[in-house]
Amino acid sequence: MTPKEIFLSSLTRGATTRPSVGSATSIVTTDLLEAIDIAFPDAHLDPGKMAAIAAAGHTVLGFDNVMPLFSVWQESAALGCEMDWGNSGRMPDGHPVYASIDDSVRIPQSFLSEPGCAVPLEALRILREDVGARVAVVGKVFGPWTLGYHLFGVEEFLISTILKPARVKDVMRQLIEVTVDFAEAQIAAGADAITLGDHCTRDLCSPDAYREFLAEIHQELHERICCPLILHICGDTSDRLDYIRQTGIECFHFDSKVPTDQARKLAGEKLSLMGGTSNIDIVLKGTPETIATDMAEKLQLGVDILGPECAVPLDAPHGNLRMIADVVTR
Ligand SMILES: [Zn+2]
Repeated sequence: MTPKEIFLSSLTRGATTRPSVGSATSIVTTDLLEAIDIAFPDAHLDPGKMAAIAAAGHTVLGFDNVMPLFSVWQESAALGCEMDWGNSGRMPDGHPVYASIDDSVRIPQSFLSEPGCAVPLEALRILREDVGARVAVVGKVFGPWTLGYHLFGVEEFLISTILKPARVKDVMRQLIEVTVDFAEAQIAAGADAITLGDHCTRDLCSPDAYREFLAEIHQELHERICCPLILHICGDTSDRLDYIRQTGIECFHFDSKVPTDQARKLAGEKLSLMGGTSNIDIVLKGTPETIATDMAEKLQLGVDILGPECAVPLDAPHGNLRMIADVVTR
């Protein structure tokens, strides 16, 4: 089987000739950028450079997939957020567009042509052409909860979930169209699967809030986006994994704050699991021994795609990511 076949089969817990290794989120480290002689922030706004870094996820690190959307702000930038694109040691950050949840949301008709969206779409086309026959090409979109944080600011959005829940739901109904449109454009550009990021971690969203605001939205996204979806939520999600399982989404990219055996139990037989490896203990500070032990444990406990729990720290050594892949691919 090719790395692509192994990755895509693992997304649905299908049979494979070896375990899969990959990531739904950024694999970029400052030393990887230096090794391939490309810098941030250029790569967030230049499709060729963006694709070249993503391709290094396979050619240098040995992962079974590539994923070019390193920042969490691409579509938010296209929706009008004022951006600080960061540098090689710092990821981008943006500013809200609206001051109040009552402000009317304007989604520019041409948002997919704005650089925030157009650049990753072109990067996906390049990746499909350059490595897509052999490696799985994964896109990434954000759900309406995260888009709400970005457009209104985290504080305004979260307070409004308590004070004006109906208005928040209206806003999310509008923003879900951004998520779907961007996902469809990514599939047309060459994505074999798509990461759906939504920052509804326990410290910002209670299990009741997940059920009230997000469970149906995530289910709808699964129904409307016509490729396998990988849901990524940071932090401890053990109190909502049962709801996530019921959305029908194919794969959950989980954080090491959920113990792996618990994640497997809560995910049930059908939902595939990716990640779960600590970015601090293993990706940043791991040794060959601790990396091998962690991978063996993840495999034994039923993780389907090995790899880091979330976007890797920029200051991590990329050699450790290479070692993660070597455990299963060599
Ligand atoms: Zn995360």
